[in-house]
Amino acid sequence: METILEELTTHLGEINDLESINALLEWDQITYMPPQGATARGRQMATLSTLVHTKHTDPAIGRLLEKLHTYEEQLPYESDEASLIRVARRDYEQWIRVPSAFIAEFSNHLSESYTAWLAAREANNFTVVQPYVEKTLELSRQYSTFFPGHDHSIDPLINLSDYGMSAATIRSLFTELRQHLVPIVHAISEQPAIDDSCLHQYFPEDQQLAFGNEVIQRLGYDFERGRQDKTVHPFMTKFSLGDVRITTRIDENYLNEALFSTIHEAGHALYEQGINRAFERTPLAVGTSSGVHESQSRLWENMVGRSEPFWHYFYPRLQAAFPQQLAHVPITTFYRAINKVACSLIRTDADEVTYNLHAMLRFDLELALLEGTLHICDLPEAWNARYQTDLGIVPSDDRMGVLQDIHWYMGYIGGAFQGYTIGNILSAQFFEAAQKAHPTITSEIAQGEFDTLHNWLRMHIYAHGRKFTADEIVAQATGQPLSIEPYMNYLRSKYEKLYIL
Ligand code: ZN
Repeated sequence: METILEELTTHLGEINDLESINALLEWDQITYMPPQGATARGRQMATLSTLVHTKHTDPAIGRLLEKLHTYEEQLPYESDEASLIRVARRDYEQWIRVPSAFIAEFSNHLSESYTAWLAAREANNFTVVQPYVEKTLELSRQYSTFFPGHDHSIDPLINLSDYGMSAATIRSLFTELRQHLVPIVHAISEQPAIDDSCLHQYFPEDQQLAFGNEVIQRLGYDFERGRQDKTVHPFMTKFSLGDVRITTRIDENYLNEALFSTIHEAGHALYEQGINRAFERTPLAVGTSSGVHESQSRLWENMVGRSEPFWHYFYPRLQAAFPQQLAHVPITTFYRAINKVACSLIRTDADEVTYNLHAMLRFDLELALLEGTLHICDLPEAWNARYQTDLGIVPSDDRMGVLQDIHWYMGYIGGAFQGYTIGNILSAQFFEAAQKAHPTITSEIAQGEFDTLHNWLRMHIYAHGRKFTADEIVAQATGQPLSIEPYMNYLRSKYEKLYIL
């Protein structure tokens, strides 16, 4: 059996190598590649993707998994070996259901759709990209048909990023969350706005970068196994467990932009850097779902990075880095400024309280589109109507509205947005469990000490990589199923104080 498992591991290792090379090409493409390299790079990445697909669907994997079936049943569920076989089987069964002709058609379509999206944004007119989105919807529905037996056509699409979750569970979770959130947003909007002008000053790029690096190093990001570069849309990527990179973007006239995106991406990176290194080159060596991943970026960004204790330690350092701008700004003014709540149109700029309204309305629109109760031609209008209902503001044009996110123009319609809100919910649930286990965490954060928190997260979440599903991780780490209660408690206690509700 060991030889068979070794054969499987070799095969999976080669797939992992190819995927990591593709990630490196992609990282280079969006950071340092000169414009004239674009055509060849696109071709190189397409060639690699075809190779990856061939390898994923190689019948040899199916034969090896077949031979390992009885062996797997004898192993404890939580053992590394059983988990590897289980996850490899799940991947294989997913890959072989999707015809390679469909993959090719979809990937060709997406590059056209992306170009049309850029043109639509340029023209500030959704109708430019509308026929492409119609085709995307059709292909998204078709993808679902490869996985018969689901309750809702979005379920197979959700499985791609948040395995094990479904329309039914997410819908009821979001309905509950929305009922609690909307009154808080309304109450806050009746309060006087917080003055955040201290953040809108000139902060030179080099000092911003240096300060961000100091912060994330202190949090536990390992620069021996990573680096930070500049890009247009910040992201985290990984080429091996020894090379987990992040990117950021800097606005010299607004401090929040780079600071919090750096902490956010570092949160994703801490997850990947914390995976058991024995999983290197296997399908276990990655975070388990988009929801759990986002819970870590949001935990470090918000629960930690936007907290009072955190700035108790870091604010004097920030003032020392920017004496001209901040020496005369009291810490309370700064703390209130970075936590300002305002109903805005752009999801990525949204504060902690309103953010989920942006994500949840997108999820609802995806459901309606897949169900056929909403047509693509009516999407901009439906989008604007939901912004009016949920946030009380209406986009002035398509660029500020339905054209703002890349997701529906560069991927399936369905499964793209639920992870953001699940991540927010889980960030509070994990943070609460860590604090229960170690009540000193808050006072340690005020001293600039993050090891206790980091180690708890590493032990209960990061180290497992993809061994367990999101539901299993949540149950093991917190002793509870996914729940919005810790998140609502967190938001209420923080924002009741900030806005004297
Ligand atoms: Zn993220």
